[in-house]
Amino acid sequence: MIEKHLQEMLLRRRDKFMIPASLVATVNVNNSLGHAFLVLTKDRYAKIIVVDNENLYRGQLSLAMITDRLLETDRINVEKLNELTVADVMQTDAPVIQDPFAIEKNLHLLLDQSFLAVVNKDGIFCGIVTRRELLKTVNYTLHNFGETYKITPKNK
Ligand code: AMP
Repeated sequence: MIEKHLQEMLLRRRDKFMIPASLVATVNVNNSLGHAFLVLTKDRYAKIIVVDNENLYRGQLSLAMITDRLLETDRINVEKLNELTVADVMQTDAPVIQDPFAIEKNLHLLLDQSFLAVVNKDGIFCGIVTRRELLKTVNYTLHNFGETYKITPKNK
């Protein structure tokens, strides 16, 4: 468990924890693969969130997932960009969280993911928690803890 004073200090940056859905680039589950390819290339994000018309979170999509699907034995079949949709290729098993402030759990999950999708109890996409923002919070805490708390070793 995270020590309670550290936890309190980590949570001082709570307004920075989640990038709200309104600022997150997404693609629709029904979009063509070609459209998603363009969005991913232009926005330069490694992976993007997939939602549906009701703003329900549906999965995640990366350029690698697309190119992997285009690959045939001896060529890349770009016609599939028009034939397939995002739903055909997206990843659906990435971890999803409901609480952006569950720091301990989220830190563990962010060891293997560069971001986590946040959904509400109805599955509506709310935003993302990124490894970068959480690392900034950890960095802030490491640098400022000594200014707020006096630290004495237990076995002195
Ligand atoms: P970062 O930690 O800021 O480099 O973000 C890690 C990953 O989170 C990026 O590679 C994207 O896949 C995703 N990401 C971060 N910010 C956004 C955003 N505003 N819209 C969509 N995806 C994002």
